[in-house]
Amino acid sequence: MNELKDLYQEVIFDHNRNPRHFGKLAHASCHAEGFNPLCGDKVSVYLKFNDQGVIEDVSFDGSGCAISVATASLMTETLAGKTREEAEAMFERFHSMMLGEEAGSDAAALGKLEVLSGVREFPSRIKCATLAWHTLLAALKEEKDRGAISTE
Ligand code: ZN
Repeated sequence: MNELKDLYQEVIFDHNRNPRHFGKLAHASCHAEGFNPLCGDKVSVYLKFNDQGVIEDVSFDGSGCAISVATASLMTETLAGKTREEAEAMFERFHSMMLGEEAGSDAAALGKLEVLSGVREFPSRIKCATLAWHTLLAALKEEKDRGAISTE
C-alpha cells in the first residue's frame, strides 16, 4: 500500500510540474470548460476527432490544484486513439474507482490512472480529480449534438 502511495505522490507531482498535452488545440472538433467551485479549479478540454470517429488529438488548459492538473494531464495521455464510446466507458470506470466501487477486471484498462485511487483518502479532493472527466463528457456531448445536426 505504501508503494501505491509513493507512486501516487510521484505521479501527481510529475504531471503537475510537467503537464502533458497542455494548451489549446488548434482545429479542435469540440471543447468544453469545467469549474470546480469547491477548490477553484478550472479546466478546458479540447478534442479532435478523425473521420472514423476516433479521438485523434486531445489537449487541456486551465489552472487549479495539483490533483486537478495531474488528473487532466493523465486523462489526455490515455484518450488518443479512443472512440467516443470508449472515452465514455473510461469516464464510467474512473468515476466508479473514485466512488470506491469494484470495477472488476475492467479496472486494468485505466492503466496509470489507477494510481489516482489514492485521492479517495481525501474525499474533499475527489471533485478535483473528476473535474477533467466531467469536462470531457461535456465536450463529447457537444460533438455528439453537432454530429446529430449535421446529418439532417
Ligand atoms: Zn482542486
